[in-house]
Amino acid sequence: MTDPFGAAEAVLFDLDGTLYRLAPMRRRMLFELLRWGMIHPVAFPRLMRCLREFRSAREGLRDFAGDAEALADVQFEVPAKRLGVPAEELREMVEEWMFRRPLPFLGGAAWPGLRGVLLELKGAGMRLGVFSDYAPERKLEALGVRDLFDVALAATDPEVNRFKPDPRGFVVGAARLGVAPTKTVYVGDRADVDGVGAEAAGMASVILAGADGVGPRSITIRELGQVVALLTGSSKG
Ligand SMILES: [Mg+2]
Repeated sequence: MTDPFGAAEAVLFDLDGTLYRLAPMRRRMLFELLRWGMIHPVAFPRLMRCLREFRSAREGLRDFAGDAEALADVQFEVPAKRLGVPAEELREMVEEWMFRRPLPFLGGAAWPGLRGVLLELKGAGMRLGVFSDYAPERKLEALGVRDLFDVALAATDPEVNRFKPDPRGFVVGAARLGVAPTKTVYVGDRADVDGVGAEAAGMASVILAGADGVGPRSITIRELGQVVALLTGSSKG
């Protein structure tokens, strides 16, 4: 068997927890939420309940496999129904607190040397893409690396319409990069969704920090810079 890492021609990245660190971001957003809660003590519990229910509903939708409905809408309709609030109102809260408000803080949570790591991979001839369960475009711009990616794909893209670990997004991502899944390596931070999904798509994976990989074609690393040596045979990074 050829080494799937040495033979890689493309790298597909997860975004949250992979291109930036979750812990400082979560701390920052908790601070922002609590500060907002001081000024809006009545609305605050409702906001927290909505955000929590949205996250939990999304985890529950990991096995969603319908084609008749758009996941982009279902992800709001399911928790909105459970909460008894209009889906549009929930969508607006999520847009504000999970997308718009975190953007200015993303750069500060980026993995140190992120741009350099991506440039090294590009310099080694790799095609680079992002496949995320959330819309990646504005986050990549906030991280200052949108220009380095050939593909930016969300699970809610109509061609995917599946959250990880369904293999479809991994396969579509590789297709858009113009590289076979077997020559694409997925880099993520969750073995249960990133590692499992990559494996199901026939893709090797690198799992950043924490959990173990999911088999012989999955490797665990401790910091993002390690992907350079792993994929290019270079000792830099
Ligand atoms: Mg992640």
